[in-house]
Amino acid sequence: MTLSSSGLPDLTQAQLEAWAVQARTHALEGYLPDYIPLLAQANPTWFAVQVKGEGNRLHTFGDTSLSFPLMSVVKPFVLLFLLEQLGRAAVFSQVGMEPSDAPFNSLIQLQADQGWPRNPMINSGAIVLASLIPGQDAHTRCEGLRQWLNQRADCQLFLDKQMLNSVLSLTNERNRALMSLLEQTHHLEAGEVALDTYNYVCCLSGTVADLSRIGMLLVQGKGVVSPEHSRVVNAIMTTCGLYEASGRFAVQVGLPTKSGVSGAMLSVVPNQGVIACYSPPLDLMGNSKASQFFLQQMVQALRLSVFG
Ligand code: GLN
Repeated sequence: MTLSSSGLPDLTQAQLEAWAVQARTHALEGYLPDYIPLLAQANPTWFAVQVKGEGNRLHTFGDTSLSFPLMSVVKPFVLLFLLEQLGRAAVFSQVGMEPSDAPFNSLIQLQADQGWPRNPMINSGAIVLASLIPGQDAHTRCEGLRQWLNQRADCQLFLDKQMLNSVLSLTNERNRALMSLLEQTHHLEAGEVALDTYNYVCCLSGTVADLSRIGMLLVQGKGVVSPEHSRVVNAIMTTCGLYEASGRFAVQVGLPTKSGVSGAMLSVVPNQGVIACYSPPLDLMGNSKASQFFLQQMVQALRLSVFG
């Protein structure tokens, strides 16, 4: 048997376009989240992808001028920021690194763990990490993270205030319950500011170009952040990034990946580059339908899985 191609440099624009066209049809099977009204108004046919490799090798396709909120795709970057600011020991004294097979906002999981947040990719862990970001209030903390990311990654993330208002327009009872339990069990202090900060950072927004630029921080050897810290973030994205679908996704795709309810999805190809996708319709676990399909095609054809 001959092994054909291997690696991002083999990608052609024709391949990218063919997978994207197919992926778009899969979007129609997904649904839009209704608990954030503005996300429910997204156009289900929106689709954009950018693949970025070393040496600024770039492929793009679709509606690449669209901007969208990162939502949970911000979580690995909150983790990276705090690892860089506070160090590994300080961060992991506050949050675990174990996967969960429950949904991203599961109260049952947090109750079973007596209020200990299992990992930074689920809401309980991300709310606790939001409490560690330096700054007096949510706006200052979010701005600190935004400026750090824009400077390190040379991109233009912005806070989408309309989206933030939409997030805040309906009480997210689940996130409030997580916050209360974290406080009661002494795993979180000043819960209101932490939850507020969490909502702000989820509304940091940009295009697939911005997403791929922040993703490049996680490609080891960039020299901008500690390779050890990006390794830790990549490992946790691999085991926890798609919530309860993480195990299946590791088999089907096998790249450190993070999804968000906006339909954003970011995959890291260690030492090679990143794949940034955006397509709003989701599966039942809250992961973008079309982005997952696209990744599966691309990873198989180019043999990108970290597992060989
Ligand atoms: N802000 C969203 C929430 O807490 C983010 C969740 C997500 O993207 N999965 O519900």
